[in-house]
Amino acid sequence: MGWKHRLIGAGFAACRAPGLTRIVGRRAQGLGAILMFHHVRPWRERAYAPNRELEITPGFLDETLRLLARRGWIVVSLDEAVERVRAGGGDRPFAALTFDDGYRDNEEWALPILAREKAPATFFATTGFMNRSARLWWLEVEEAVRRARAIEVEIGGVPITLSCASDPEKEKAAEKLLALLRASPQDEVDRVVGDLSRRHGVDGAALVEELCLDKKEIAALSAHPLLAIGAHTRGHPMLATISRERAFDEIAGGKADLEALTGKPIRHLAYPVGDPGSAGAREFAMAREAGYEAAVTTRPGMLFPEHAAHITALPRLSVNGRFQSIANLDALLTGLPFALWNRGRRVSA
Ligand SMILES: [Zn+2]
Repeated sequence: MGWKHRLIGAGFAACRAPGLTRIVGRRAQGLGAILMFHHVRPWRERAYAPNRELEITPGFLDETLRLLARRGWIVVSLDEAVERVRAGGGDRPFAALTFDDGYRDNEEWALPILAREKAPATFFATTGFMNRSARLWWLEVEEAVRRARAIEVEIGGVPITLSCASDPEKEKAAEKLLALLRASPQDEVDRVVGDLSRRHGVDGAALVEELCLDKKEIAALSAHPLLAIGAHTRGHPMLATISRERAFDEIAGGKADLEALTGKPIRHLAYPVGDPGSAGAREFAMAREAGYEAAVTTRPGMLFPEHAAHITALPRLSVNGRFQSIANLDALLTGLPFALWNRGRRVSA
């Protein structure tokens, strides 16, 4: 576990200090939060799982909904969350549930739980995954490292050699590669990952086929009364690292493709990767220009009335598989970890 993960763990522990929440009250909590999920599926026991933060179990989703209820939160659609931000809130804190990328397991494992609890949610679908034209590059990296005994790559002109003979070595190597690639331009990511997959025999298209919902399935889900389909671009690029023209095509095209498929207006966008290096002021303006009502980042934070002026740069609370405990999530729901991480700033846009 890297220093960053340890630091986050320490933040959780601090926020569980007895009485702290009672002292500071709901000030850090704000109006509520948009929760972010990726895979929801039973855990397959394995030591090497560098993308484990993107995965929670169905049981944990269930516990999450119970915790929200216990703490007096209500679950609302993203549309209603946006309305509540604009209106400055309501009497109770609210959570909107969002699932990124369009994974099959969201339908198989999350939807039955959402339906049982009558909890609305948004599935953000990347049309390139749905059409089988885009790649889950972070999973290709995981797969390449799983197969390799050593990795030799050049990222941004810097040659890198990583030994991956054992599971702990693989975990470290993949973490390093993923961090370096997330900080690189998308074209460099595509070049490096394409090369890694070729050399280590990873079938990227098969991964998408196995894991992602297809067109017919997304179209069917769009008719579900609890679900809204949101856009997550066409090719899932880190938008801030590509040209303005390509970025706008990704943002507006993802919307147009899904509207043609579902026959419904697509009102919300989630920026791929969604951190400050992937989505910034230029993308926030493009989302408005493309006609979205609201757009969500992966910048961590709670919702405040101030976000009404930054409606295409909304923060989210990641329900992270690496810290899959109700105590941690309970600490996050106080908003205190975000107040600490954001140094008291409510808006990061
Ligand atoms: Zn994504």
